Amino acid sequence: MNPTYHSTTWLLESPLAAYVDAFTHHFTDERYAPATVDTYLGCLAHFAHWSTQSGIDIHGIDEKVVQQFLNEHLPHCNCARQVHRVRRDLHAALIHLLVVLRANSVIAEPSIGMMPVDEELRHFDEYMNHVRGLAPRTRSQHIRVVQRLLLDQFADNAVVISAIKPDDVRKFVAKQSELCRIPLSITATVSALQGYFRYRATRGDPVNHLTGVMCHPANWQLASLPKALNSDEIERLLGALQNDGPSARRTAAIVHCALDLGLRSSEVAYLGLDDIDWRAATITLRRTKG
Ligand SMILES: [Zn+2]
Repeated sequence: MNPTYHSTTWLLESPLAAYVDAFTHHFTDERYAPATVDTYLGCLAHFAHWSTQSGIDIHGIDEKVVQQFLNEHLPHCNCARQVHRVRRDLHAALIHLLVVLRANSVIAEPSIGMMPVDEELRHFDEYMNHVRGLAPRTRSQHIRVVQRLLLDQFADNAVVISAIKPDDVRKFVAKQSELCRIPLSITATVSALQGYFRYRATRGDPVNHLTGVMCHPANWQLASLPKALNSDEIERLLGALQNDGPSARRTAAIVHCALDLGLRSSEVAYLGLDDIDWRAATITLRRTKG
């Protein structure tokens, strides 16, 4: 029997059952690996069991209730069934649960008494907004990455930048690249962390040793360019393409211009709509070598 069977039942029998789909979609949107989503659902099942047993109303779930579960129940947990008991996973999953419940207007926005990591993220967001003028989408992407790092490091304790070791950052980036289904996301992870450490530098924290361990995955200026992709790499590249949404289709079009037509990157970049003759199925290259 599937070991998660019983705990899933706990979840589906609880008032949280109505939000399991929303919770799963939230992770799919953020491109979490299916195994991570399973872990988080297991965490949710444990919490659902405890909150049902404790008579906690779904509308009353907030940061305080999460703390109560983590600090008071978890150390003495003797839930009969095989449950997920890794505090870090439980904490991460429950933070996401609060996000989903708030997005669905099930619970109120947090007022006072936010956790230190939330507080830190709010300051970082203000800096990105007011000092760096970043777009909301970029800011929320950066916040999501930095939130994972800080929750990993500090859970619900105070954020102390000097406690982060270069190796922690290296491991975090490596773990993210396993979590991300799309290689591009790792570049986003590195950008977010660099942005965050730049912010901490403005607050007077020495962070050079932390930024030093991160480099963008493909820094071709420092390496010889690969001559060509092998068939396995091409398979993987094509497999990573998606077709939902304009930017995904744009990416797929760029890849096919390079792969199928053998265009240079600059030729793809300068291609305009007028260069394509759809009836004759031809492309005219105007600004190119020879
Ligand atoms: Zn328990």
